[in-house]
Amino acid sequence: MANMSLNKVAMPEQDPNIRNKNFEEVALGYGIEQAIEEATRCLQCKHKPCVGGCPVNVPIPEFIKQVAEGNLEEAYQIITSENSLPAICGRVCPQESQCEGVCVRGIKGEAVGIGRLERFVADYHIQNVETVVPEIQKNGIKVAVVGAGPAGLSCAGDLAKRGYDVTIFEALHDLGGVLIYGIPEFRLPKKLVATEVDNIAKMGVTINKNVVVGRSITIEELFEEDYKAVFVGSGAGLPKFLGIEGENLNGVYSANEFLTRVNLMKAYNQDQSPTPIRVGDNVAVVGGGNVAMDAARTALRLGAKEVSIVYRRSEDELPARREEVHHAKEEGVVFRLLNNPIKVIGNEAGWVTGMECVKMELGEPDASGRRSPIEMPNSNYILDVNTVIMAIGQSPNPLIRQTTPGLDVR
Ligand code: SF4
Repeated sequence: MANMSLNKVAMPEQDPNIRNKNFEEVALGYGIEQAIEEATRCLQCKHKPCVGGCPVNVPIPEFIKQVAEGNLEEAYQIITSENSLPAICGRVCPQESQCEGVCVRGIKGEAVGIGRLERFVADYHIQNVETVVPEIQKNGIKVAVVGAGPAGLSCAGDLAKRGYDVTIFEALHDLGGVLIYGIPEFRLPKKLVATEVDNIAKMGVTINKNVVVGRSITIEELFEEDYKAVFVGSGAGLPKFLGIEGENLNGVYSANEFLTRVNLMKAYNQDQSPTPIRVGDNVAVVGGGNVAMDAARTALRLGAKEVSIVYRRSEDELPARREEVHHAKEEGVVFRLLNNPIKVIGNEAGWVTGMECVKMELGEPDASGRRSPIEMPNSNYILDVNTVIMAIGQSPNPLIRQTTPGLDVR
């Protein structure tokens, strides 16, 4: 008999007023009793809509059934038959718009906590079981994977399981891509990323760090070295800016640079980081996506007294995950919605001292289906800030496109 509670079993979290001063993980994860209780909310639907909602088709009801019966290693083996990165995906996949978004339990009440269960199963395995890779029959076909971010790692893991001879080429000195330079430690501990990368390496995948494909070696040269296919998962590392006056002042960062310096170059350790970071008392983060929430919550943890999200639309249009917005609000981030920056202001020494903004209102829907923001006349005001972080999106690094003749990029 299924547990018909309308709500997910709550996941313990650090108190907001404690966690906004440290970089430890916010969500603490289920214990075994909580996981089994949540697993019994699954109805074991015959048509499995949740599997269709999962980009990698994890056999969700099958693994949840094993959790409900307390067979945690069986659950892990079922998940990893389709997903090589369960501890990561259980934490940072947008489940509410994927598997949980189509879960039958979500029609009346909350969806089954599929992500929370995946995370629990992966963590239990990491803490209690040594990963043994089964003998894989090699097929002798070489494949190159460009980029050791989530796409490249998943591709490498799936191909290695199927017997391909896979080599990953990574531009940075560490593996994980956006998982290590972009997503903060308090959402995704880096040692978990290292563990799941190790599991992929154990499958016989060769890893070459500090190789910039398109510069150190071209795609054409990879084919000349007998790679039969090249998977390009080089990520979106080129930040966008608004193009407003003052964006080149000291104290204006792209979210990409800000988060990379804090996460990868460990700027949260101000005394020891080779690239320390200064945030001042008042920080504005421009944008409303997950990256903006990560940057704002990171700035708080670096000691800023007031951190504002400045977003030109309303709360309904915020592209960030609801959970991230909720966590940011709990931690004290101020949401200045329907506000748009038009100029960054600096002093004679070239440092940011403020940001001129204008108030907005929503008009008719635009091509994206969202109501367009319209400037309200004479609503300009100056926001007192020392640091501005632009988190308005990123595009792919153009290097591979520029150095690969005939590459069709859409
Ligand atoms: Fe279980 Fe929800 Fe999937 Fe149904 S849709 S099998 S309830 S997780």
